[in-house]
Amino acid sequence: MNVVVVGAGLGGLSAACHLVGTGHDVLVVERGDRPGGRAGVLERGGYRFDTGPSVLTMPELIDDCLHAAGSARAEVLQLERVDPMYRACYADGSTLRVWHGRERMAAEIADVCGADQAKAFGRFCDWLGDLYRLELPNFIDRNLDSPLDLVRPLAPAMRLVRQGGFRRLGNVVASYFSDERLQRIFSFQAMYAGLAPYEALALYCVITYMDTVQGVYVPAGGMSAVPEALATAAGKGGAGFRYGATVERIVLEHGTTGRVRGVRLDDGEWIEADAVVCNPDLPVAYRTLLGGLPMPRVARRGRYSPSCVVWHAGARGELPPEAAHHNIHFGHEWDGAFRALLDDGSLMPDPSILVTVHSKDEPSLAPAGGHTLYVLEPVPNLDGRVDWTRERSRVRDRLAERVAALGYPAGVEAEELVDPTDWERQGMERGTPFALAHTFAQTGPFRPGNLDRRAPGLVFVGSSTLPGVGVPMVLISGKLAAQRVAALRGKAS
Ligand SMILES: Cc1cc2nc3c(=O)[nH]c(=O)nc-3n(C[C@H](O)[C@H](O)[C@H](O)COP(=O)(O)OP(=O)(O)OC[C@H]3O[C@@H](n4cnc5c(N)ncnc54)[C@H](O)[C@@H]3O)c2cc1C
Repeated sequence: MNVVVVGAGLGGLSAACHLVGTGHDVLVVERGDRPGGRAGVLERGGYRFDTGPSVLTMPELIDDCLHAAGSARAEVLQLERVDPMYRACYADGSTLRVWHGRERMAAEIADVCGADQAKAFGRFCDWLGDLYRLELPNFIDRNLDSPLDLVRPLAPAMRLVRQGGFRRLGNVVASYFSDERLQRIFSFQAMYAGLAPYEALALYCVITYMDTVQGVYVPAGGMSAVPEALATAAGKGGAGFRYGATVERIVLEHGTTGRVRGVRLDDGEWIEADAVVCNPDLPVAYRTLLGGLPMPRVARRGRYSPSCVVWHAGARGELPPEAAHHNIHFGHEWDGAFRALLDDGSLMPDPSILVTVHSKDEPSLAPAGGHTLYVLEPVPNLDGRVDWTRERSRVRDRLAERVAALGYPAGVEAEELVDPTDWERQGMERGTPFALAHTFAQTGPFRPGNLDRRAPGLVFVGSSTLPGVGVPMVLISGKLAAQRVAALRGKAS
C-alpha cells in the first residue's frame, strides 16, 4: 500500500520504520527541516540545545523500530547509560542519587534514608517489575478498540486489580516508603502522565519502573540523534522523506468523511495515498487538516496535562562538582504545589524544577568552557489562569536566579524561554506538549483511538492517541499504527 506519514515526530518515524518493515511504500511528509518534532534542536550562539525530551528510557523500544526497518542500533545510534540517573536535591538540604542497578541504589537509600527503606526498595522493585510485565503486553503494547478489550481476556485485568493497580499511586508508594524523600522520587513520574501522585492510579507506576528502575540513557550527539537514527533506518528500509513540506489537508473521499485519498500540501501539490498516518497533535489535526470532521468528544472536552516552561541557557563557567546530568530540585511544597497547578491553574508556589545538563555527557553541545542548561518548570496549560504576557519575563528571571543560586554557571551567553503560548504556536493543543492527561477515563480504549471509522485509511499516531505520552509510548504508538495499516491491507485484498 502507498502510505503517507504526516509528520516526522518520534511517533511518525516509528510508524515509518514498522511500515517499511512490512513492505509498504512509505513517504514521510514533514513541515520542519529535520526529523524529531518535539524532540527538536535549538542552536544559539554556538550552543546546541535539545528542546524536548531529556530523560530517555526503554532503549529496547528504539531497537524494535530499527530492527523493523532492517537496521541495528550499532549502525545508527550510540547510547550510554546515565549514572546517576538523577540527583534529587531536597529543600532540607539532603541529596539522594538514583543509580542504575538495584544493589547500588539500595546502598544509596540505606546511606541516606536508613536500612529499612533500602529493604522496602527491594520489595518495591519486585512489585514494579510484576506490574510492568503484566501491563506492557496486555494494556499498553496493544490496540484497544472498546472497554471490553480491557477484560478480554479477564485474567490480566483481575491480576491488575489484585496488584493494586487501581489504588492511588501516591498511597501505594507511601505504603512502601515512610521517608517522604523516597515517596517523592518514586512518585513524581505521575507528572509525566499529567497527574498529581495523589490522584494518579497506581497502574501508572509503570512509568516509575521505566524511569528509575530500568534506567536512563543519553545518546551521543544529543537527544536529536534518536529521531535522526530512526529516520536513517526508515530511509534505508525504503521510506522517502520530504522535509519543509506542510500538509494542508488530508483528503477524504466525500469531503468531510469517507475513505482517505491522500494529502494536499500548502503549495497545492497533491499526493495520493491508500492510507495516511497522521502524527500532528490529534485535536489540532481534526481542526485544521480534516476539514470539519468532528473530533472525538474526549479530545474536545477532556482534561489536558499541565504544560511546562523550559529555559534554555548556554552559560560559561564551572558546574557544581556534585551536578549530575539530570538534577531535580524539589521545593518545600508537594501536594499544595500540585493543587495550585492542577486545580487552580496557577503557577506552583515554590516549584520543583528539573535542571538537565546535556553538555555534561556530550561536550560537543557547548563551546569550550560552557554548558547547556535545560531548566524545566511545570506550569498550567492554557486552560489555566496565567497571563503569559505578564509572567513570561518574571518566570525567566526567577528561574535564572534560582539556578545561579544553586551553583550552576551564571555567565549566560545564549538563551531561549519556551512557554505554553510557544507550545500552542507549534501546534500543541491547549499549549501543552503532554497531550490529554492520563486519567483512567482518558487512557486505553477511552483515549482518542488511532482509527476513525468515518474515515477508513486514516490512522493516528503519537502522544495524543494510544497508548499515550512520552518517548516509549509514542514509539509503541508507531507500531500500533503500522498494525492498523496492515489490517487495512487485509481488508482491501
Ligand atoms: C519540553 C518537553 C520535555 C519532555 N520530556 C520528556 C522526557 O524527558 N521523556 C519522555 O519520554 N518524553 C518527554 N517529552 C514528551 C515527548 O517528547 C513526546 O511525547 C513525543 O516526542 C511526542 O512525539 P509525537 O510523535 O507524538 O509528536 P511530535 O513530536 O509533535 O511530532 C509531530 C510532527 O508532525 C509535524 N507536523 C505537524 N503538522 C504538520 C503538517 N501540517 N504537515 C507536516 N508535518 C506536520 C511536526 O512538525 C512534528 O514533527 C517531553 C516533551 C517536551 C516538549
